[in-house]
Amino acid sequence: MEIRFIANTAPKAKVPANELRFGTTFTDHMFVMKYSPENGWHDAEIRPYGPLSLDPSAMVFHYAQEIFEGLKAYRTSENGEIYLFRPEKNFERMNQSCDRMCIPRFDGDEVLDALEKLIKIDADWIPTAPGTSLYIRPFIIATDSHVGVHPSGHYLFVIILSPVGSYFKEGLKPVKIYVETEYTRAARGGTGMAKCGGNYAASLIGQQKAEKLNYSQVLWLDGQEHKYVEEVGAMNVFFKIDGTIVTPALDGSILPGITRRSVLEFLRYKGYKVEERALPIDELMQAANSGRLEEAWGTGTAAVISPIGELNRDGNACVINNNAIGPVSQMLYDELTGIQWGLKDDPFGWRHTVK
Ligand SMILES: *Cc1c(COP(=O)(O)O)cnc(C)c1O
Repeated sequence: MEIRFIANTAPKAKVPANELRFGTTFTDHMFVMKYSPENGWHDAEIRPYGPLSLDPSAMVFHYAQEIFEGLKAYRTSENGEIYLFRPEKNFERMNQSCDRMCIPRFDGDEVLDALEKLIKIDADWIPTAPGTSLYIRPFIIATDSHVGVHPSGHYLFVIILSPVGSYFKEGLKPVKIYVETEYTRAARGGTGMAKCGGNYAASLIGQQKAEKLNYSQVLWLDGQEHKYVEEVGAMNVFFKIDGTIVTPALDGSILPGITRRSVLEFLRYKGYKVEERALPIDELMQAANSGRLEEAWGTGTAAVISPIGELNRDGNACVINNNAIGPVSQMLYDELTGIQWGLKDDPFGWRHTVK
């Protein structure tokens, strides 16, 4: 793929690592590529970061034909190398999201190549302090100027980069989770397995409700019966019950997280007993009430591992592991971040060096 490069002649001042807030600072360049029915994906360029110009009737504004991804680039001060974590999996998943949202597929290898070029151009923006990284946000939007309900003919593929600080400022701190029994995030047959903005728009109200009750995230149940555990906030979720680690099976309404997959692979490699299955919320609350729920944690690119210290369903609040991080959560966090920052062995070849 040929990529035109237009350098930013007015680069911004870098933000000190301790002032970085998630998703608020962006680098000097971005990747943009167009799609048309005549030319397919074409006109790839890396150009100065800045506003996109779209017609007010552009389809993305009206019917939400949009998908996105999230991954990170890591750099340690030790050798200056830049690493990605299983990036090919993000572009595979992005193509699966494309299929669900009637967006044309793209060549994942070519886009990964373009991403590496972009990262190298803005490499000075990658923070090196412990726990910091460069968050990468690829997305595709429908751009036909037409208020009509059908798939767009034209699209924009954009990648922007955002330096981010440590997710946990005071170390791994367990979060309080509110079990949502009224609203749902996704239903089987819907778009839960696609990474699309619409899923997030639908989830805002539950998140707002949880925050009003002083809980930081929502535990989502299935859309049909409100009976089975699905995800927590924008993370997949794991529970250690009576020594066995359980995570909801991918049933179509759960986002297939790359951190989830990596945690499963790592736990099996280490010899833990792991189950992917339907997990009834009643079973989980009984385990929590009787002290058999030993640990719980969420998984996702942003936090990697987010320990859960409390679950509340309809006023029944259960504290997990005395609201402290458990040994499996801590081990997973140390091992995965160790691989990501190039500080530990990478037995699976998950680390991808930006060359
Ligand atoms: C992105 C996302 C996740 C986590 O996926 P990772 O690939 O591990 O970052 C989980 N749930 C939802 C709803 C998501 O959008």
